[in-house]
Amino acid sequence: VLIANYSWGLVALSLVVSVASAWTLLTLVARVSQSSGRLASAWLFGGAAVLGLGFFAADALGVLALRLPVPMRYDVERLGLAALVALLTSGLTLAVASGPGLDRARVTVAATSMGAGLSAVHFVALSALDVVPDVDYDRRLVVVAVAVAVAAAYTALTSSFALRQRAPHELRGPQPATAAVLGVGLAASLFAAVAGARFAGGTTFDGGIGLQPGACGVALFLGVTVLMSAVHGLALVDACLARRQREHAETLARTRAELEFRRRHDPATGLPSRGAFAERLQARADELGGRGGLLGVVALGLDRFALVNDSLGHGVGDLLLRAVGERLGSSVHHVDLVARGDGDQFLVLVAGVPDRTALEGVARDLLASFSVAFALPAVDLFLSPSIGVAVCPDDGGEAEALLAHANEAMRAAKADGGHQVRFFEPGARPYSETRLDLENDLHRALARDEFELVYQPKVDVRTGRIRGLEALLRWHHPVRGPVAPSEFIPVAEESRLIVPIGRFVLREACRQLRVWRDAGLPPVGVAINVSPVQFRASRFADEVRDALATSGIDPGCLTVEVTETAVMTNAESSVEMLSEIRRLGVRVAIDDFGTGYSSMNYLRRLPIHELKIDRSFVQDVAHRDDARSIVQAIVMLGIALRLTTVAEGVETADQRDVLIALGCDQLQGYLTHAPLSAADVPEVLRRNVAEDGGGLATLGPPRRLRPVGVGRSAAAKPG
Ligand code: C2E
Ligand code: CA
Ligand code: CA
Repeated sequence: VLIANYSWGLVALSLVVSVASAWTLLTLVARVSQSSGRLASAWLFGGAAVLGLGFFAADALGVLALRLPVPMRYDVERLGLAALVALLTSGLTLAVASGPGLDRARVTVAATSMGAGLSAVHFVALSALDVVPDVDYDRRLVVVAVAVAVAAAYTALTSSFALRQRAPHELRGPQPATAAVLGVGLAASLFAAVAGARFAGGTTFDGGIGLQPGACGVALFLGVTVLMSAVHGLALVDACLARRQREHAETLARTRAELEFRRRHDPATGLPSRGAFAERLQARADELGGRGGLLGVVALGLDRFALVNDSLGHGVGDLLLRAVGERLGSSVHHVDLVARGDGDQFLVLVAGVPDRTALEGVARDLLASFSVAFALPAVDLFLSPSIGVAVCPDDGGEAEALLAHANEAMRAAKADGGHQVRFFEPGARPYSETRLDLENDLHRALARDEFELVYQPKVDVRTGRIRGLEALLRWHHPVRGPVAPSEFIPVAEESRLIVPIGRFVLREACRQLRVWRDAGLPPVGVAINVSPVQFRASRFADEVRDALATSGIDPGCLTVEVTETAVMTNAESSVEMLSEIRRLGVRVAIDDFGTGYSSMNYLRRLPIHELKIDRSFVQDVAHRDDARSIVQAIVMLGIALRLTTVAEGVETADQRDVLIALGCDQLQGYLTHAPLSAADVPEVLRRNVAEDGGGLATLGPPRRLRPVGVGRSAAAKPG
């Protein structure tokens, strides 16, 4: 028997690589399980490659460490085979350990295959010593080698599954310990295998090539070290990014919850808001179903309240509103909910009354409750209410319609001198009639060429340059004059007229782009607004393709704006539709961002380029912390997802400054530019290019342009 000797330096290197590989395995498991989609596959495959190389290198170093007192040769093909087995075992182990759940059976199977696979690597690597006569293995040591590998794999897999749920700072102790157990275990298994190899006296080497074990070992060690360090570096960056993204999502969720609370409560009186009232009303109306009974929707306005407010001051006004709210909630039976409407208005939901007569009784009780004065610090004050009542189901089953009817009746009561109760009379329906007129006129508007697009610039905060235009629709009604989009778009959506109207917008914007391009204007992109109704009409992507082909413009010049709510209410199909549009080369922006409830999962998957921060946040950004923190969260999200963030509706220099400080990319609003008619665009664009931008923050006091058409008056209305 030949007495084998060891190069202890290489043994040590093998041990180090073994432990480092084990540590890499744990890191990779965390990365694969915490990422999704393409990133997860990249970690899995890239990780498996490096990991396999690591395990192989540990074994190759072990084989190189072995010294026999005859000239040694190594079979390179066998070493390659060992590397291949190591690679496959690593991939399998990584896939199993980062899978969704590990029960005992799966751990056992995975540990056995990992242990067996890595033991196989030992023996294949050892077989690179192609000797005559064949190596004779000590059976007991072979069993020990396999058993130790399986045991180490089992320990590591169980604890890696437990570990990957933990936050990074909790891993400082247990992760190195696990890595050490696995690494040392695998090294022990390797050297059990090496020690079990018996070489007969007179052994000679058959094939293979001569190698310098020391030099080769060090080169291998260095190569693997570089690769593994790279993996750890990348993992650190990725973990950091993932954590930041998680934090952003949490901030956004928190701010949303806060906002939702504010949306549902009126701060002045502590009463539920109109929105919360409408929700409860709808729920009660749905419960009613066919089961008989009725609901009363009461709109209660305080007569001449503005006078009280002006003479006594807003502080007293608020006290008074609070007192009215309390009295309405406490003094009358059958009151289900009291909420604050707009201004001096209260909303009362009456439930559990058998018929109209009983409901009328409740309304009179509400009126009568005002016969007692309200005690204020300095004075006792009598108030008189005007009460309008709508009845569900007689006057409708939809909350919004019922509220509108109650309001109409209340206004009638007020107009008639106040201090009285009026029920809604279905005879006069001014609201729905105007709507019907509007719809009829809309039918004709397209044919009569009554629509026009105006263009509002979006400006880069850093350079002050115009980065794009948003096309906004204007309707010049022959009799009414300009009609605001907020009035006619909902009607157009309900009647599906928005489909041909939207097609007009798309084609007109593309045509205009082509005209500007042919006139040699500086290149600029145009964004169009797309309604969810139009967006779901299945041919929308085809229409975009047609419009691009007809006009011959560069698809990258076109942006499609879709509201967050539209996208999220139909998330799966939106992903598909938007992907199709994006494949055409068209950009996609999410409009009114922050008002809907984006699922972070979908947001990440959406093929979008731009987030437009809703005007409501921009309005408050200079003086309210909650709005500021929402904008900040959105900007961070934009950074994490590599999207352009655009703040819309920027009106004041204060808002601009805060938005710039928060890191918004682009601004849009009356402060920089009002919507421009197509005829005015070339001049503004040319001037903008000629000016040396130099950043918005350093621009002088901005010119305030008059908005075109109805844009401003309509958009400036509250709500
Ligand atoms: P949007 O997409 O959020 O468009 C921005 C609106 O804010 C425009 O109102 C614009 O004139 C207005 N605005 C711009 N800067 C400021 C500012 O500094 N302060 C204030 N208070 N408002 C500003 P507009 O044109 O009345 O449009 C209202 C909405 O109608 C749009 O909201 C969009 O949702 C819809 N809309 C407009 N054009 C189209 C269209 O062609 N197709 C569809 N489907 N919807 C459209
Ligand atoms: Ca828009
Ligand atoms: Ca918007």
